Amino acid sequence: MKLISANWKMNMTPTQTRDYITKFLPLVKDVKDREILLCVPYTSLCVAYDLLKDTHIKLGAQNVYYEPKGAFTGEISVAMLKDLGVSYVIVGHSERRWIFGERDETINRKLLACLDGGLRPILCVGERLEEREAGLTFKVVETQIRLALSSLEDHTDMIDIAYEPVWAIGSGNPATPEDAQIVHKFIKDLLKSINKNYQGKTRVLYGGSVNPQNAGEFMKMPDIDGLLVGTASLDPEAFAKIVNSF
Ligand code: PEP
Repeated sequence: MKLISANWKMNMTPTQTRDYITKFLPLVKDVKDREILLCVPYTSLCVAYDLLKDTHIKLGAQNVYYEPKGAFTGEISVAMLKDLGVSYVIVGHSERRWIFGERDETINRKLLACLDGGLRPILCVGERLEEREAGLTFKVVETQIRLALSSLEDHTDMIDIAYEPVWAIGSGNPATPEDAQIVHKFIKDLLKSINKNYQGKTRVLYGGSVNPQNAGEFMKMPDIDGLLVGTASLDPEAFAKIVNSF
């Protein structure tokens, strides 16, 4: 099933979360042929869970720590998220890589913890502008995926991947659907080549300045299996339009 996910980032208080979900639910109540996911801040998980638990909308987090418990002030474990009804978690978002210095090795450990704990990760990959301009898009994406999946190669069906070119995120300047398609196909071919149990269950989402006007064009591409939406997902009506755009 296609997956359309919101990434609210550091937006929405618990009160605003309640208002958003109350507005959003009626707009998507009849949509059953695609998966809808809200990746909300940690502080909104409880209220979101209460409102979503009897619906078909899934709940996601935006980050997780790889240790199961202990003296890691400020961190949140897989088990803590699972206990709050979370089924997905974004791992390795470019903001975590470039603002918080998250390294490939850390991302790999987080993926391992998610798979061990039964949480489905959405691994984010994507090149920066200077890398694209230097013709390094495929090399960067391949390196990020190989390092993130190191020792997990035979389990790639348990994760989804978001291709998010860094220059397209929050810039109003999306990749063209055709350019994104080429990278998505490359990612799937790569997964096929590294996973000897490959079953094609990884969905490859596109992220980067998706809005209600362009979402349908991305979803026409054969290897675009869904969308990860930041800015436009902050408005329940705009996000519902994206969900309903194909
Ligand atoms: C994101 O950060 O995951 C994202 C896709 O953001 P935006 O839609 O604002 O480009």
